[in-house]
Amino acid sequence: MTSTIDPSTIGKPTKQAKASPRRHVRSLTGFTPEKDASGKEKWPIGDEKVWKEGIPGLTQDTPEITKSVVHHVHTSLARQAYNLDNLGAYQAAALSVRDNLLVNWNDTQLQYSRKTPKRAYYLSLEFLMGRTLDNALLNLGLKDKYQDGITKLGFNLEDLIDQERDAGLGNGGLGRLAACYLDSSASQELPVWGYGLRYKYGIFQQHIGPDGSQLEAPDPWLEHDNPWELARTDVTYQIRFYGHSERFEGNKGIWSGGQEVLAIAYDVPIPGYETKTTNNLRLWESRPKRGFDLQSFNAGDYERAVEASNSAEAITSVLYPNDHTTFGKELRLKQQYFWTAASLADIIRRFKNTDKPLTEFPEYVSIQLNDTHPTLAIPELMRILVDEEDVPWDQAWQITTNTFFYTNHTVLPEALEKWPIPLLENLLPRHLQIIYDINLEFLQAVDKKFPGDKEKLARMSLIEEGFPKNLRMANLACIGSRKVNGVAELHSELVRETIMKDFVDFYGVSKFSNVTNGITPRRWLDQCNPGLSNLISETLKIPKAVFLKDLYKLEGLLEFVDNPAFQKKWAAVKQSNKERLAKHVEATLGLKINTRAMFDVQIKRLHEYKRQTLNIMGVIHRYLTLKDLSPAERKKVNPKVVFFAGKAAPGYYIAKLTIRLIVNVARVINNDPDTKDILSLYFLPDYSVSLAEVLIPASDISQHISTAGTEASGTSNMKFCLNGGLLVGTVDGANIEIAEEVGESNVFFFGHLTPAVEDLRYQHMYHPVPIEQKCPPLARVLNEVSSGRFGDGGVYEPLLNTIRQHDYYLLTEDFDSYIRALELVDEAYQDRTEWIKKSIRTTAKMGKFSSDRAIQDYAQEYWNIESTKVE
Ligand SMILES: *Cc1c(COP(=O)(O)O)cnc(C)c1O
Repeated sequence: MTSTIDPSTIGKPTKQAKASPRRHVRSLTGFTPEKDASGKEKWPIGDEKVWKEGIPGLTQDTPEITKSVVHHVHTSLARQAYNLDNLGAYQAAALSVRDNLLVNWNDTQLQYSRKTPKRAYYLSLEFLMGRTLDNALLNLGLKDKYQDGITKLGFNLEDLIDQERDAGLGNGGLGRLAACYLDSSASQELPVWGYGLRYKYGIFQQHIGPDGSQLEAPDPWLEHDNPWELARTDVTYQIRFYGHSERFEGNKGIWSGGQEVLAIAYDVPIPGYETKTTNNLRLWESRPKRGFDLQSFNAGDYERAVEASNSAEAITSVLYPNDHTTFGKELRLKQQYFWTAASLADIIRRFKNTDKPLTEFPEYVSIQLNDTHPTLAIPELMRILVDEEDVPWDQAWQITTNTFFYTNHTVLPEALEKWPIPLLENLLPRHLQIIYDINLEFLQAVDKKFPGDKEKLARMSLIEEGFPKNLRMANLACIGSRKVNGVAELHSELVRETIMKDFVDFYGVSKFSNVTNGITPRRWLDQCNPGLSNLISETLKIPKAVFLKDLYKLEGLLEFVDNPAFQKKWAAVKQSNKERLAKHVEATLGLKINTRAMFDVQIKRLHEYKRQTLNIMGVIHRYLTLKDLSPAERKKVNPKVVFFAGKAAPGYYIAKLTIRLIVNVARVINNDPDTKDILSLYFLPDYSVSLAEVLIPASDISQHISTAGTEASGTSNMKFCLNGGLLVGTVDGANIEIAEEVGESNVFFFGHLTPAVEDLRYQHMYHPVPIEQKCPPLARVLNEVSSGRFGDGGVYEPLLNTIRQHDYYLLTEDFDSYIRALELVDEAYQDRTEWIKKSIRTTAKMGKFSSDRAIQDYAQEYWNIESTKVE
């Protein structure tokens, strides 16, 4: 690393992440206007009148819109009507919409700078945003006007919307939650910014190979210019890695040497719905520090210089594609530190612009840690306060623990983050010292409260003993935060009773609570299902904005449950969404789908705990059962189409084998003349937010069938219900709260409950019963797969053996009740009127699951922030 050291900094305490000294940086986000003697604000520079005449306003009417789009075609794209395709027209339309977003963004940020309200920052390594154009138009209330304008220019708005690539900067639920929370914060006029990384490659593109296996390809989402971001090349910070740390003056230290990397800000405007408030998502990109490698060039060591610059750029080059698992990869740790250090430097610079003392930091700033990924922000804030700002250690700890809040997303052991101490010692030597100091003080306090309990100390320590030793990120996140929350009632209870039990005993239970996840009804109702949104508005005789801002208003639908005319319209919307999906599948995959069938959907990341395997075994069981019927009996069977979609982590062998099995079972079932009219199966490749938006409104029933106690919340369950789809599910995560709202008679529950799981696993381990005895129908299904009925049986043995042997996820325990639940679904679907009533009741009771409610919870119970109206 010596080639990357700037010789002028050796041995000197270097200010980490120092703001660029240029004057205009200060004015970007932290500008406080001067006032004259009468208290009136002074215009900061030049002729006020000239400035004010130049400030752009919103493009509100159709002629202004077409003018602005044509303007961007000619100037931003240097094209004309003669050579404009859909992609170009999309880009011009997007730039024109972005102009509007930036007008509002500027007003919002100026307002925040002037009024200095307390702000909250949402730190998330993932933001699964999906597409922006449609969402921005709806939130701005300009969709109809743009539709008009785009039509006048000879294009079709929906075609342009389809040109946009998803921003896939996340794996699944955690990243999508962050995106919904940004929408809700802006919509409720709350001063909240998101901080994340600008990955050059988001979640990989999934292809299906000739043998049915998942293949991964890079996602070049930035291939064409991204109109939804603004590079802030003047908002940059220097982030240090490696080097050495010296202690001095008690808890203080000096970190120097090593490698410095630049963090460059990219801003993504986040428009609220029907409000001027437009918040910010700031994403960091890594770049090599200019000139840092001059020495190497001089020494002729060109290759090392290039290597160093590559390694700087590598930090934000790719999103790690694993969901609910951790790998101890150094680059991932670099990502985490790079992002938390840049974000904190930015937050502190903004706070300092208010001229308030650092002791008041927690009165102006709350920081939410989305899972343990940003936990290094805790020792980083301590480092800044103690080493750079000369705040005494105890006071710094006071500030830190009043600033952070930690959301836990899982109790699965394989997902709990741990980092090898030797890795930390090398990459972040000063942080490791700080962590040791925090740990020592903490364990002394524990020992004082529970004297002599060595085992408790070992469990609660930030350091897990072993070879190597590991840092337990959840423990650090917990002790460095003011509050800890889980994401659904059951999950929060499990957090308190399992992984955080000792901490509950130590701190008291009030530090540990629950915020049940939510989804934004703007995207997950109005945008993805305009037919339903219009029907609801027309039926309740209220503008859409009323229920899109207060989702409890949907309860008004209950009055119409028994109204046959309304039922008919409700069913017609579902039918047209099924046809829209069928059209999409035909256009993209060339497959024809029976839209008269029941649509049964399971779409989510592939994971053993989510039990896609249970579903596919159920499909095979259904197929075998149908094959056993006579042709006359088959004629009486209601047709069903089963959809799967979801990505598997590239290194997750069993999950990928599950995809391969689904694809190959589909090939057999869909080509069997005995059954193809009554059962078909599709694996739709490359699951994404945009695909979810087409699939979810089309579903009659969806599956959320995790082993009880393993799915923290789930959010797609909420999306389906909001769109009038029913659930078949286990008593897990938010399924429980959904059933509480909609009534248990409207949810198809099955399977063992959480308290039984531990015992059953114990039995499987120590008193295994052969599957032929335990669950004959499932044994038959496994044997059919083994025998090669769906292609080379041997291939699937490792997957089948997970069930035959330990069966950790308890498929053999839940299979019978699962099949019974699916039979009840079939029976219920026969009585179509009753089904439609269930569907209406379900949508009507989804008020609780708006992310607006969740964000209000965070704003009031955690962050203590208030709405600020932007004039
Ligand atoms: C909502 C959503 C998820 C989360 O799905 P779960 O079934 O709750 O795990 C994952 N991916 C995408 C694209 C989503 O929209």
